[in-house]
Amino acid sequence: RILLDKFSKSFGSTKVIEDMDLEVGSGEMLALLGPSGCGKSTTLFAVCGIHRPTAGRILFGDRDVTNLPSQERNVGVVFQSYALYPHMTVEENIGFPLMVKRVASADIKKQVADIAGLVHIEDLLARRPAQLSGGQQQRVALARALIRRPDVLLLDEPLANLDAKLRLEMRSEIRRLQKETGITAILVTHDQVEAMSMCDRIAIMKSGEIVQIATPSQMYSDPRTSFVASFLGNPP
Ligand code: ATP
Ligand code: MG
Repeated sequence: RILLDKFSKSFGSTKVIEDMDLEVGSGEMLALLGPSGCGKSTTLFAVCGIHRPTAGRILFGDRDVTNLPSQERNVGVVFQSYALYPHMTVEENIGFPLMVKRVASADIKKQVADIAGLVHIEDLLARRPAQLSGGQQQRVALARALIRRPDVLLLDEPLANLDAKLRLEMRSEIRRLQKETGITAILVTHDQVEAMSMCDRIAIMKSGEIVQIATPSQMYSDPRTSFVASFLGNPP
């Protein structure tokens, strides 16, 4: 599980998150849903170790990771701009996290093949990112995030650049992978349909605070505030 315990984050004198408590259960996929600028990415960056919290703690299981650098947290991350290495092939891109850890190259080859099968890109391994569609690049980014078998998967608007059809496909694909691997995941999005269709629970954020956490159906039948109701009711 992931636990945020009174997590706060300021940039200079600007308070972005104040005293946030959040628990994501083991094997759960949780959506952080809210309007632009409410602090979703800031929260995710703190969980993955890019930002140090101004106050509070972050735990993975019982392990306090608050002061651990990103590399020691065993997280897989997919950002909105997936940032593949343009000069490397798909195979090299996916294997890169293992290369950095000095895993033997025969081993890397095998693990890349396994994970590429999982996201259905086994026939694209020799290509470079520029030779792939957006959805294929997205899968490569996902494979690269999963290859270290992370304890935690963090997705920041992972489908934002895809067309409607691919987005639908990738929604169910990511959800399937998340269930198959039993990984604990946070999905950041401002798309309520995405949150509803992919996640076990949704945390609705507004101005650095969580307004309500509930399952999709609870959220629909019992929105706690008018903000939640209107946010769910108005597609972006
Ligand atoms: P979006 O949906 O647009 O991605 P978000 O919910 O992810 O929005 P954040 O990126 O977390 O929003 O930003 C929350 C607030 O913190 C914003 O007001 C933003 O301007 C501010 N902020 C984020 N990063 C920094 C930074 N490095 N320095 C100063 N302010 C920042
Ligand atoms: Mg963001």
